[in-house]
Amino acid sequence: MSIDPAAAERLKELVGPKGFTEDPRQIAPHLLEWRGKYRGRSSLLLRPHSTAEVSRILAICDETRTPVVPQGGNTGLVGGQIPFDGEVLLSMSRMNRIRDINSDGMSAVAEAGVILAQLQDAADRADCYFPLSLASEGTCTIGGTVSTNAGGINVLRYGNMRELVLGLEVVLPDGRVLDLLHALRKDNTGYDIKQLFIGAEGTLGVVTAVVLKLFSKPVERVTAFVALPDVRSAIALLHRMQHAIGGLVSAFELMPRIGLDMVLAHIPQTSDPLQTRAPWYVIAEATAGANSPLQEPMEQCLAVAIEDGVATDAVVAASETQREALWRLRESLSEAQKPEGGSIKHDISLPIAAIPDFLLRGGAAVEKLVPGVRAVPFGHLGDGNVHFNFSVPQGGDSAAFLARWEEISRVVHDTVQDFGGSISAEHGVGVMKRDEILRYKGTGEVEAMRVLKRALDPHNILNPGKVIEL
Ligand code: ZN
Repeated sequence: MSIDPAAAERLKELVGPKGFTEDPRQIAPHLLEWRGKYRGRSSLLLRPHSTAEVSRILAICDETRTPVVPQGGNTGLVGGQIPFDGEVLLSMSRMNRIRDINSDGMSAVAEAGVILAQLQDAADRADCYFPLSLASEGTCTIGGTVSTNAGGINVLRYGNMRELVLGLEVVLPDGRVLDLLHALRKDNTGYDIKQLFIGAEGTLGVVTAVVLKLFSKPVERVTAFVALPDVRSAIALLHRMQHAIGGLVSAFELMPRIGLDMVLAHIPQTSDPLQTRAPWYVIAEATAGANSPLQEPMEQCLAVAIEDGVATDAVVAASETQREALWRLRESLSEAQKPEGGSIKHDISLPIAAIPDFLLRGGAAVEKLVPGVRAVPFGHLGDGNVHFNFSVPQGGDSAAFLARWEEISRVVHDTVQDFGGSISAEHGVGVMKRDEILRYKGTGEVEAMRVLKRALDPHNILNPGKVIEL
């Protein structure tokens, strides 16, 4: 489709010269997903600077039946932020003010276009802490992380974005503004409407501002890199660690040896922190306030775990430099998979206890389809969230391998279903899993999603074709 010229004129006049571009060179970076997996098209990019402008934009779009795709930092992994059919692109980048940081109430109010790292820094300057942390934090926006209910490495302790939002401001597809910007910890006055827009990927409304929970700043911190004989032992270690240091474990990340080898081979300035090889590793981190030393209980926990055969070796970071070096191993995993050729990725979650059996059965099922395939499962074990990635067999044809994405995903997702898991843990649905969720969600749930979409967006103008198709 193309945008109706009369509607485009009204939109451009509304936002003024600073608020739009039709220059294909300026629009181009917004159309391409960062891994190059999705490419869209749009001839008009709007950059509103206020909630009132977003409201008027959507009112015009609703009236003229002009479809709109909202976009934050364009770091999404499932195509939710890409205009595939010439829709108007609505970038929230100019709405980038932190309206308030309240260190007494431990909350912050940020507009949708604020970069996640900027909010983390602002909280830090106010002697507070905002815990959401993920690989794209230097680029992704608050609006995007709310709309996708982002997760990352600290979910174990602090929850995902859904649990960090106290209130929000959202513009409905017809232009009405819902002011739900409350900073209340308790509010039991009926339906919790804000939750509808968290994780909705911009299909029900455009989030313009958010009230977020802040936390006390971690003062004590301990980070360990642990070698393990198997995944079951990793789960046992998590249990022991939680018990030993009072639920202060904030991250518990699983890595397979093959993943570590890829990092060591391709990422500069990395080295194996341990002397001997092990099939599995965990990076665990715990944090606490002042005067709550963590080093000793962590070391003691690891020593006993090694004695009992739950772990085989471990190192505890002795400095911030060492800590960063350990985290680099984990954070470089996705990057290190690239030079190994094509990889097929799955973002899944499972009941934690089921993960060891799932990995065995899921891995075997894919191996049967593609002999020699290299399974590289890693991720947020503490949340039951595994990035179940497969690299092309050594020396294999990447294009031929990637062409089998759907076939392989089907087998993986069916196995996830058998174990009572979810086929999208933290990346969302977008277009990538839109049809896939129909296979795994109950018909009642799917119908309820359609009812909500129709009720809030009767003309289907907002991010049409994403998450659920009408
Ligand atoms: Zn992740």
